[in-house]
Amino acid sequence: MARDEFSAATKRTLAARAAHFCSNPYCRKLTAGPSSDENRSLVTGHAAHIHAASPAGPRFDSSQTADERAHISNGLWLCRECGDIIDKDDSSHSAALLRQWKTDHEALISEVRTRGYSESLALLQSRQVEPMIAKRVIAALEDRRALWQTFDAEFPDRVRQSLDQLRSRLVDLRSELDERSPLDQILLALTKTIHIFFNAVEASDLTTLRCNSSDPEWRSFSDALATLRKSVGLQIFNLANAYNVKLSDDLKSISPLST
Ligand SMILES: [Zn+2]
Repeated sequence: MARDEFSAATKRTLAARAAHFCSNPYCRKLTAGPSSDENRSLVTGHAAHIHAASPAGPRFDSSQTADERAHISNGLWLCRECGDIIDKDDSSHSAALLRQWKTDHEALISEVRTRGYSESLALLQSRQVEPMIAKRVIAALEDRRALWQTFDAEFPDRVRQSLDQLRSRLVDLRSELDERSPLDQILLALTKTIHIFFNAVEASDLTTLRCNSSDPEWRSFSDALATLRKSVGLQIFNLANAYNVKLSDDLKSISPLST
């Protein structure tokens, strides 16, 4: 069966819309430049199919028509290495993920276009580190077991220490981000959630407070912790989805929407 290839015009448009950068957020390599022969340019990117161009290919969708398969909406611009990776490892590169890469990358390029050079560069660098920082945020949350495990949560002072460490880790991570970036907004929201928890338990001495359901102070601590877990759970669920990070079972258990 013939491959439903993109036309030359479609390929050119995909490349220009991506500004010749690879659309993989973990890569973003520039895919065009000068050749050593001054009459030529060098293009190391290619228009990749989201759903394969022929039945044997990755993510093939038999419900698509030939026109849909060759349509620009079925393509994204990638460097050669990334094009190779998404096709060989198609199980972890779903069509939905590739569409997300394309949408995010094109939105980024639109934003970069409207700003000056140095600001654009700072923005590109910030977006480049975002997926890595998102992973570190999840790792920092994984480390704070006192927040998610019932046993440790019975010792309020452990919870307090854990939250203090988490808060300072979030401050460190935020210093690496552009403050207008969406990830920074998520970290800011997490910091506020922790702040709300501390306000709620401010009146209690957490070093002496112990599990006792008839103690109103314990009940208000428990309620505040439940609210914190719910709110953090929702935020990390969104974070993990946006940056395609896998959550541990502990974290999944507090993510209300995860399956
Ligand atoms: Zn790439």
